[in-house]
Amino acid sequence: MEAFDQQHIWHPYAKIPNQIPTHLVDSAKGVYLTLANGKQIIDGMSSWWSAIHGYNHPVLNRAIIQQLEKMAHIMFGGLTHNSAIELSKTLIEITPENLTKVFFSDSGSVSIEIAMKMALQYWQHKQLSAKQKFVTIRGGYHGDTFAAMSVCDPENGMHHLFKGIVTEQYFVKNPAVVAIDEALDDLEQTFKQNSTSIAAMILEPIVQGAGGMRFYNPQYLSRAKELCQQYQVLFIVDEIATGFGRTGELFALEYAQLEPDILCLGKALTGGYMSLAATLTTDKIASTVGTLLHGPTFMANPLACAVANASIKLLLNSPWQDNIARIEKHFYQHLSPLKKHKKVADVRILGAIGVVEMVAEIDVQMVQNQLLENGVWLRPYGKLLYTMPPFTITDDELLTVTNAIKSVI
Ligand SMILES: *Cc1c(COP(=O)(O)O)cnc(C)c1O
Repeated sequence: MEAFDQQHIWHPYAKIPNQIPTHLVDSAKGVYLTLANGKQIIDGMSSWWSAIHGYNHPVLNRAIIQQLEKMAHIMFGGLTHNSAIELSKTLIEITPENLTKVFFSDSGSVSIEIAMKMALQYWQHKQLSAKQKFVTIRGGYHGDTFAAMSVCDPENGMHHLFKGIVTEQYFVKNPAVVAIDEALDDLEQTFKQNSTSIAAMILEPIVQGAGGMRFYNPQYLSRAKELCQQYQVLFIVDEIATGFGRTGELFALEYAQLEPDILCLGKALTGGYMSLAATLTTDKIASTVGTLLHGPTFMANPLACAVANASIKLLLNSPWQDNIARIEKHFYQHLSPLKKHKKVADVRILGAIGVVEMVAEIDVQMVQNQLLENGVWLRPYGKLLYTMPPFTITDDELLTVTNAIKSVI
């Protein structure tokens, strides 16, 4: 089985044959993945931020089955269904007040494409069609489709592979790397010189995920938003990784009490069950944009919407803030001391995210094997060893994860 996989199937950011062996998973329940060889391991990645309630959850399973018995899918062109309507109502209710319009798509990257398209169409209708470029913070990640790629970090992203193909955008200093004032000065200078050609700023609020797992001060967000308003630039917030509680607030933008012009959601939206994303915007932008030129085949897939409804309800009816605080405390207790280790460059913790940055590049295969021996699944990259476990993880299971990290280091 694994041999066929290795010879014929692409995995994320990999070649065929895959250089690092993949592991065959037979089933998953709670925080555990059961491998084909019977070994159970804790998923410290929540399947890339998404499985916040753990796997095979009876409530989420039931939601999908109930929807399945009605219909798995219908086209959204000219038709609608209750699961999409209910989900839209909920998203409008739990996100900032100014956001009242919802566009569903099938993945985070696509929701970013839609956000960028909205911004471009908005300025076209305002007779400011020269506003075609985007500004973003260095070190970001917004997905792998072409427009999304253009706003990923220019160095660790894929720009070098597609030079001349990926649109060149404006990259500003990273408030997680330089002082906030310096970062804001850089943003203001960029606006002063180029705002007539800039449609929107796009950023991940407070936590930069796949671009480097760096955190920055929420003050930057509020002040960047003010600058955007001053220079007639729309403000797009990408909460695909941070949304649904991960940072300790339901959405990370709440740390700055921010009202974005456009908001992207994905990943944990369905509790990690189905691929679904949403782009939200304001009355004003929606009415100015008019006809939005996008319409995925699987737009607002009923199974995905049904499980998203169940997942959000499950989250909001659970003591999720206590869980995040408990996980954060555990990370402070068990990961922070690693800062003193000579091979560790930095330890960063926020909510249910724990990051250990090493001094040197990590030998992924060696580290992964060692973690597996300790019963833990993580996917390190570059110099980063990090975990964002399901919120339902117990203290004992957390200890297994942090002990595995300690033992690897
Ligand atoms: C994962 C991610 C995306 C892309 O989402 P996909 O569903 O993988 O296309 C975009 N932005 C951020 C912040 C992400 O973490």
